[in-house]
Amino acid sequence: MKVRTKDITLLQEYINSQQSITIITHFNPDGDAVGSSCALYHYFNSLNKDVQVILPNYVPYSLKFLLENVNHIVAEADFKQARKRLQSTDVLIIADMNNNSRSGDSLEKVLNEIDCKTVLIDHHEQPEKYDISFSYPTSSSTCEVVWNVFNRLTKKKVFSQDISICLYSGIMTDTGSLSYSCNNPELYVVISNLLKSGIKANRVNQKLFNTYTHSRLNLLGYAISKKLRVFEKQRAAFIFLSVEELDKYNYQPGDLEGVVNYCLKLENIDFCALISERDNKIRMSFRSKDENIDVNKFARKYWNGGGHIMAAGGKSFKSLQEVVKTFTGQIYNNDFIVKD
Ligand code: 5GP
Ligand code: MN
Repeated sequence: MKVRTKDITLLQEYINSQQSITIITHFNPDGDAVGSSCALYHYFNSLNKDVQVILPNYVPYSLKFLLENVNHIVAEADFKQARKRLQSTDVLIIADMNNNSRSGDSLEKVLNEIDCKTVLIDHHEQPEKYDISFSYPTSSSTCEVVWNVFNRLTKKKVFSQDISICLYSGIMTDTGSLSYSCNNPELYVVISNLLKSGIKANRVNQKLFNTYTHSRLNLLGYAISKKLRVFEKQRAAFIFLSVEELDKYNYQPGDLEGVVNYCLKLENIDFCALISERDNKIRMSFRSKDENIDVNKFARKYWNGGGHIMAAGGKSFKSLQEVVKTFTGQIYNNDFIVKD
């Protein structure tokens, strides 16, 4: 990853000359969002900066350990405090999201109005413009980008255990434990350096991946056995879940993390989706295992979303039934193969 010297010099200037730094990430924060934000927090905290993380809403329970010793505000629980912090910050770091709208409607308005230095650190396609942009869409994760930025800022390769645990977590969650976005040899050098801090990868993996509740495992079983639709001819599949079904399995934020990937385990399926009724809307997750099926383009064109070529998300405010009907039509029409 080639981090431009002029961007590092400007970031260093911001760090030296400005007092307060605020880090913000996307709505429904995942491992890479929380990991990159908390790693940035630990780094600036070690420089004795006034630093705070703003999370749009609550993080899944499997990621809570990353927030230990991190000064943060959950905007959903304390919006006024989040707004006050944003209105007074000198520097805003936008981590693991490519535009202000990804922080949710209420925070987006605040972000669009404030006047401060802005720094994007991200790996999503087509980012908005910010004062400094560390945007690497071919990178495995925002955490990998953060490691490279720290490396250029400090000329070091090994960082504190707090930082290393956060960055390791983001890389592992965003690559499905190194099963996708994992072809770049440089990524393994980054992981090697994270482990040199002395962190125990097996223990972090246990916290990230093996902390299911019984109801979460039952929900997964139900989704696969009862709510999976397969379209063999189109090599497509999807799972759909209503809010009533989620309630029945005592749904907690994070419980559907990774469920979409089970559809791709089918040998003859290249495109899949998880459609779920959550937060008063229909959330869509798209995945592809064929480079010719660009789900970022599909999500942008039809579902008010975006993301990466092989993994993207979108949303709709129509009913679940309508969304399933429209989406099924798109499968039959091969609309998911979007050409420019
Ligand atoms: P997931 O399906 O896991 O929620 O998201 C897959 C990827 O697409 C993640 O990198 C996520 O950040 C991104 N993503 C999900 N929803 C949206 C969206 O509405 N807009 C954009 N630009 N990216 C999204
Ligand atoms: Mn990410």
